[in-house]
Amino acid sequence: MTDSILIVGGGVAGLSAAKACVEAGARAVVVERDAIVGGKLAALMTQPAAGDGEGAGASVPRLEELRAANDVEILTLSDVQGIEGGPGNFTVEIRERARFVTDACTLCNHCRPVCPVVRPNDHDAGLTYRKAIYAPLADSLPQEFVIDIDACLNTPPNYLPCNQCTEVCDDDAIHFDVPLERQHRKHVAAVILATGFAASTADLSDSSGYGKHPDIVTTAELERLLMSPGPSGGFAAKPSNEDYPNSVLFILDALEPHAVQTVASQIERLIAQDIGRIAVLVTDQPGTAAAAVECLPAGLSVSYGLLRKVEPQPDQRLMVTFADFSSSRIPEEAYDLVVVQAAVEPADGLDALAEVMGCDIDAAGFVARPDPESAAATSRDGVYVAGAARGGVHLAEACEDARTAAAAALSNLDPRLLKAGTAAVASEEQDVETDTLAAEELRQRFERALFAMLESGK
Ligand code: SF4
Ligand code: SF4
Repeated sequence: MTDSILIVGGGVAGLSAAKACVEAGARAVVVERDAIVGGKLAALMTQPAAGDGEGAGASVPRLEELRAANDVEILTLSDVQGIEGGPGNFTVEIRERARFVTDACTLCNHCRPVCPVVRPNDHDAGLTYRKAIYAPLADSLPQEFVIDIDACLNTPPNYLPCNQCTEVCDDDAIHFDVPLERQHRKHVAAVILATGFAASTADLSDSSGYGKHPDIVTTAELERLLMSPGPSGGFAAKPSNEDYPNSVLFILDALEPHAVQTVASQIERLIAQDIGRIAVLVTDQPGTAAAAVECLPAGLSVSYGLLRKVEPQPDQRLMVTFADFSSSRIPEEAYDLVVVQAAVEPADGLDALAEVMGCDIDAAGFVARPDPESAAATSRDGVYVAGAARGGVHLAEACEDARTAAAAALSNLDPRLLKAGTAAVASEEQDVETDTLAAEELRQRFERALFAMLESGK
């Protein structure tokens, strides 16, 4: 009899689900592809508690809580290779790739300066640079350095032409002679898919100017700037010169509620930082967009029009030109920082993971939820979904999803393994699903009887 729940994905949703599981008395095994947990909000999780700004309204798990939780096992650089069994009794095969740096690492930082390989740091939304051996963030879980073996000049175990990092590591923490992979087998009662999302700029139009000037950033990049600790200490800054921006324009063309909520949260934080002028350009007709943008802070300057171009000026400002829908005018205004929306896409490899797990994906490539009565259920019994693995969600929704998925997953455990009180919550979720199944079965029986009557002509 297992007391464990497997969670695939160690971002906000996955870690929130893990926290809910251990609070209920279960064990959580978190499988994360990246070198650290936390996903895009890893830096936020280093903070002692959610304040009024970032993470407001969402109970984001903290790294210090997770470090202290004995019942959370975290496997980084890992992915699920196979699954057998059914609800209450799954066996899951997990592959863990080598980190090449052991827990003997004292974070002395001697290796980083000597490493000759430089790459953009994805953990800072590509706004900073790292080496092939690096600590993804100043504080992270786990906290050891890691080697990006695809970027490293060594090809272990036989071809080691560089080794500059090993030569300066006094703590003998770097080893290229370790097995490249380790296999793990876990017995779990249920699985929660919480793989998050990928922020894509592939569909941004040329007129947005993205990629042509560093001060045209995506909402994902701005989020990293506004997060403390971040590349600019949590303060809005122009990536071109780290100056404070006096004016910021948001260009909204994706009006899904989660996307507009994210922008609304960022605008509130910019207002709190006393940015002089914040404006919004909505590239949809006012009538169509009215409901979507009503969550934006009151008193903002909101224009509606078709973006013509964003053009860098000799003074480093960005001239924005658009065709105003409500007049025949083509206004031009200069801003210090322009924020465009990155599209929310399924996380890389989600389709392959869904195939391994035996779960359907929907037309957009996210994990399908075939049962409208159960927010967390996938097409495979005992496998649940939380957060952006099911589509675009904002932060508070992802945390709420995680609790729902955890409750559903816990219903597959023997209630005697759970703490008093939490078993009832889990069984309530199970009851809802059982009731739904019973209702569905009745409906199908009724339909069969009706068809039989029609066919027999009665
Ligand atoms: S030199 Fe060794 S101990 Fe120091 S940070 Fe690098 S890997 Fe860690
Ligand atoms: S061996 Fe790899 S990680 Fe170490 S210094 Fe050379 S390139 Fe960097």
